[in-house]
Amino acid sequence: MELIHQTLSSKASAMIGKENKYGAHNYHPLPVVLERGEGVYVWDMDGKKYFDFLSAYSAVNQGHCHPKIVNAMIKQAQTLTLTSRAFYNDQLGNYEEYVTKYFGFDKVLPMNTGAEAVETALKLCRKWAYEVKGIPENQAQIIVCENNFHGRTTTIISFSNDESARKSFGPFTSGFIKIPYDDIEALEKVLKSTTNIAGFLVEPIQGEAGVYVPADGYLAKAKALCEQHNALFIDDEVQTGIARTGKLLAVHHENVQPDILILGKALSGGVYPVSAVLANDEIMNVIQPGQHGSTFGGNPIAAAVAIAALEVIREEKLSENAERLGIILRKGLNEIAQRNSLITLVRGKGLLNAIVINCGEDSDLAWDICMKFSEYGLLAKPTHGNKIRLAPPLVITESQIHDCLSIIERALNDFRQ
Ligand SMILES: *Cc1c(COP(=O)(O)O)cnc(C)c1O
Repeated sequence: MELIHQTLSSKASAMIGKENKYGAHNYHPLPVVLERGEGVYVWDMDGKKYFDFLSAYSAVNQGHCHPKIVNAMIKQAQTLTLTSRAFYNDQLGNYEEYVTKYFGFDKVLPMNTGAEAVETALKLCRKWAYEVKGIPENQAQIIVCENNFHGRTTTIISFSNDESARKSFGPFTSGFIKIPYDDIEALEKVLKSTTNIAGFLVEPIQGEAGVYVPADGYLAKAKALCEQHNALFIDDEVQTGIARTGKLLAVHHENVQPDILILGKALSGGVYPVSAVLANDEIMNVIQPGQHGSTFGGNPIAAAVAIAALEVIREEKLSENAERLGIILRKGLNEIAQRNSLITLVRGKGLLNAIVINCGEDSDLAWDICMKFSEYGLLAKPTHGNKIRLAPPLVITESQIHDCLSIIERALNDFRQ
């Protein structure tokens, strides 16, 4: 790390120093200090330009500082920012109508961050289980998957199996049953053998786990099993949703309509924290006044921003772009993998992809490769040791994809043994 810091300008090092001194050390960022973004590009404090291949974990699907989204935010920020839900505001109803029709649900419950939306979905599922399905109070069980990532609250980490996310944060919330991901037999077995199952919470692709794509048909079969056993299929699309994988939702690849849909990240195009839980009346009507809420959830800025962000997805055909360019990106990466044995596997859907590096999960090699990418003008971050996620903003063009493939190959060649 020290050697790397010596290559930074003094103003960038000073900024990193401040974060180290005054900020909690809950992240381990790449040593790059960004000050501006536009479309697929970000610039650091010294004016160096990079392709952003993380897109703030898929929050910036519409590209950095999209003018339409930023303008919607500025206009609303100058008019009315926050009323709380103690009163109505003139934006929320329009947004609720827009987002529910967009995704095909009766109702939405607006929140701010992804983790809050996951918490909301879990509470909603439990309440439905007691009041509609008839499970005895406090007995509801929700099935989750191994290696999941759903956020950082105490309840959510209760069913994580990432030790660094859990250690010394207990005691944990009970009521969750963990099964292997992408294992339809395991799901069927639990649904058949266990009473009081309220729902099944799943990521259609496990992003944080390293862009793990399940077998074709897994999601459709899981949905059918949930229906058969009167359990809710809860779809966490905080990362995969909103055009990232080449469809509006990743479950649309298998024509699945979830019972509860969780959105966040790109719902605002990355300009503001906006998340949402969508469901039909039979489920959503179990929530009555005073039973759940958030001071900022559904605020006028969030409502105006989210409409603009969703309009951009449609107007700029970002699902189609992600689908088409994802194929080109994976083809190019597979070609590189044939020439360079450092890549052992390329996987993904649309523009949510990862390369698996030929090293152990504890090796620093993937980090060092990302440092090299950065030197050559591309920002990406390892996830779970030896996997590097490659997820540019969906506004990227074909020729930019080819430029990025050249950067990736050039950087990897520097490591060839
Ligand atoms: C990022 C993420 C979350 C949590 O979102 P935050 O806004 O960071 O709380 C939940 N689920 C998935 C799948 C995510 O990728």
